[in-house]
Amino acid sequence: MTKRAFFRFYAELNDFLPPSHRFEEMARTYLGTPAVKDVIETLGVPHTEVDLLLVNGESQGFDYRLQDGDRVSIYPVFEALDIGAATRVRPVPLREPRFILDVHLGRLARLLRLLGFDAAYTPGAEDEHLAMRAAAERRILLTRDRQLLKRRLVTHAYCLRSQAPLEQAVEVLQRFDLMSRAAPLTRCLRCNGRLQAVGLEDAGDRLPLGVRAYVTRLAECLDCRRLYWDGTHYPRLLSMAEDLLARAVSGPAHRRPDRTRTGDPGN
Ligand SMILES: [Zn+2]
Repeated sequence: MTKRAFFRFYAELNDFLPPSHRFEEMARTYLGTPAVKDVIETLGVPHTEVDLLLVNGESQGFDYRLQDGDRVSIYPVFEALDIGAATRVRPVPLREPRFILDVHLGRLARLLRLLGFDAAYTPGAEDEHLAMRAAAERRILLTRDRQLLKRRLVTHAYCLRSQAPLEQAVEVLQRFDLMSRAAPLTRCLRCNGRLQAVGLEDAGDRLPLGVRAYVTRLAECLDCRRLYWDGTHYPRLLSMAEDLLARAVSGPAHRRPDRTRTGDPGN
């Protein structure tokens, strides 16, 4: 027997729907008793973007089996939203903002490292490896690949909207509210290792002769031993980091939760 359920997506979850279906209830027919997670993903919305599910007004988990006539309301991550007694479908947010990026996001990885965030990135890594490492190391997966986000192993992730690395960095800052946690130039852009200040004498002959004369600050990556010094590109990197943070603070805030449009799911 064909059954029918009704779905309504809130706020930025509508980004994943075709324009004709945004911000309104849609009916879907189905057979059997599928898990609500699978039907939501069939509609194009990755489960990792969902923070709260209400079925007929009651909060439910991703494993909930649809029943004929169900009305499903699907809400995105609202860190500050008071949802009262309702239960969020995902585990509590990861406290340490640590990331793992898919193979297409090398430039974003460097920008996040520039801002001081732990951003794991391995060129050529398989999806399976990314999902397993994200789970094992409790990292937030960043990707634009919705297939990757469908994996059950992936619990904390963000689907980037922009294709431009600078915009993507602003998105991540805003989405995870990281502006006050940034620490520019504390991490190695090449390998993600932490930087530690070192004296000129520790650098030995690894510091080019022409550089030695003007260096006042010198840092070394604890992992790959690469040296960073305050030369011509140091101020440029710092101003790039400051520019990203300023953009994240001042907007455009179009990716931040728009509470005026969603009502209060707690009622
Ligand atoms: Zn390094």
